[in-house]
Amino acid sequence: MADTGRGRILHVDLTAGTLEVEIPTEEFCRRYIGGSAMGMYYVLRDVPPGIDAFDPANVMTMFVSVLTGAPIHGQSRVCVNAKSPLVDGVGDSQAGGFFPAELRFSGFLGLVIRGRAESPVYLWLHDGEAELRPAGHLWGLTTADAEDVLRAEIGDPKIEIAQVGPAGEKLVRLAGIVNMADRMNGRTGMGAVMGSKNLKAIVVRGTSKKLPMADGAALNALARAGAKEVPENPDVISLKVDGTAGIIEYQHLNGTFPTFNYNEGQFVHYQKLMGPTMTETILVRNDTCYACAVRCKRVVETEFMGRPVIPRHGGPEYESVGTLGSYCGVDDLSAVAFANMTCNKYGLDTIGTGATVAWVMECFENGLFTEEEIGGPARFGDAAAMVRLVEAIAHQEGIGTVLGNGSRRAADILGRGHDYLITVKGAEAPAHMPHFKRSFALIYSVNAFGPDHQSSEHDPMVEEGWSDLYAEYLGQLGFDHPLPPLSLGPEKVRFALKTQQFYAFLDTATLCQFVWGPGWQLYGPKETVEFVRLVTGWTDFTLDELMEVGERRLNMLRAFNARLGMDRSADRLPKKFFTPLGGTGPTAGIAMVEADVEAAKDEYYRLAGWDVATGNPTPGTLDRLGLGWVMQG
Ligand code: SF4
Repeated sequence: MADTGRGRILHVDLTAGTLEVEIPTEEFCRRYIGGSAMGMYYVLRDVPPGIDAFDPANVMTMFVSVLTGAPIHGQSRVCVNAKSPLVDGVGDSQAGGFFPAELRFSGFLGLVIRGRAESPVYLWLHDGEAELRPAGHLWGLTTADAEDVLRAEIGDPKIEIAQVGPAGEKLVRLAGIVNMADRMNGRTGMGAVMGSKNLKAIVVRGTSKKLPMADGAALNALARAGAKEVPENPDVISLKVDGTAGIIEYQHLNGTFPTFNYNEGQFVHYQKLMGPTMTETILVRNDTCYACAVRCKRVVETEFMGRPVIPRHGGPEYESVGTLGSYCGVDDLSAVAFANMTCNKYGLDTIGTGATVAWVMECFENGLFTEEEIGGPARFGDAAAMVRLVEAIAHQEGIGTVLGNGSRRAADILGRGHDYLITVKGAEAPAHMPHFKRSFALIYSVNAFGPDHQSSEHDPMVEEGWSDLYAEYLGQLGFDHPLPPLSLGPEKVRFALKTQQFYAFLDTATLCQFVWGPGWQLYGPKETVEFVRLVTGWTDFTLDELMEVGERRLNMLRAFNARLGMDRSADRLPKKFFTPLGGTGPTAGIAMVEADVEAAKDEYYRLAGWDVATGNPTPGTLDRLGLGWVMQG
């Protein structure tokens, strides 16, 4: 069947074993672009509200976008959506790598997967063709081993693979979907949904890398200008030299490096974990995503307690160092690298896993767990205990069978430890503290799929951080001066919402937020609009339309939760955030103030066009965004 160059949408019914191709119209592509919004179109249309996330009727979508595979930096990302088994409500998770571009080259814009196969299968997509193949021989294999078997079986070293590890197969709610054995759609339990469908892997290959570009010459010029800019942009070059962990010193100095399960904002041993230390000690090389000159990914080699950490599984990102490291009070970079490798090998989200281990440590220190229950002592700072608990989750042994549900569900199952949770809607908070990045008190609360550090711009408006680039990029979104860093007043709320809408576009267009963005990135809002025009030929595409696409995506996510009966009462920060931090540094003694957060939520719902009492989208807002159909389903 001929398509339009935009790619096909493949509908996979694993129960029936059928595959059907849909050719999306241009109007549909322009409205939903790809990624999260396009996936949510099918999730909202087809998922019955009351079902369990592991019900075969749950629909898992995996979408790239109409921009994926373009010859420019930061466009190879993929988004997965479904009802979440971890978060109360909708699941949404992003990953980069070479898999996303290869999925587009294979002829597909996205997949809509329903049902459950009788026995394990994998999906093989190549040059517009699709087939389901048996995967019983892959079941139980770790990610690298499954990749090796698939490469040998298909006989093509250039295939790309997104798969569940043993964690996803066993329905561990912290499970993600792993590609390249070191990139992950980690958040919100999407690996467990894929495992519940008996779908081990999605394997893709396109022999032609040429996609139709409306203005290829201008696009190449934009790519060249970006490459030239990499060494000139201080934040981007830091990503290249020291990876995402390059920000650790900044995080520590500003008291936003969560330590001892968010009890403190500074970690006295931060230098042992920071990016330059990784670069000087265990880094083997940088890695990248398709066509990206930033090359921020880490590949490390080391050993922990005589056990090797192999380059095949990459190296820890900032979030992994934060959650498996300072969150747990662990200062041993090799232990963090080992735990990170274990997560990539078995398919576990490092943020949820590390934060769950930190929760166990605080519970243990307060006498809520015995050594017998958790396989030994687990005090903050005990690297061996951190690794032991991560392995217990990965292997689903002992207490790991409970902890794999995430800390909130583990607390519910065990009937203890609720006071020590760092969760919103059941998902663990990342390693950025709202005590300093104040707008995160709001975004962590209201985000439909739980607390997320990549859903809006971080409060950059501390006076020393306000640069010409911020002024230029944020100016395009209507912000022309620094805001008080610790304010959560109306102007900060507007900043949070507007940048959230911009980031929501990025997660819909599946663009990397280190390359495209409204703050410090390689390309700002104007170039993002230009990029859309140059690829698609939509010469009348504007920044207003871009923001509306983002707004549409946020409303779709929120509408899914509203259908489940969720409302603003679910937008609740953990109790610990309202207790003053201990330790040292600028955030010592700081706590969130409940009345301030509630007032910010009121303002946010109002600005978003949502009902202030329920926090849910109003019919008028849904209609304005062409989503009137959503609440009628
Ligand atoms: S900046 Fe890093 S994460 Fe983003 S596309 Fe480039 S290599 Fe990948």
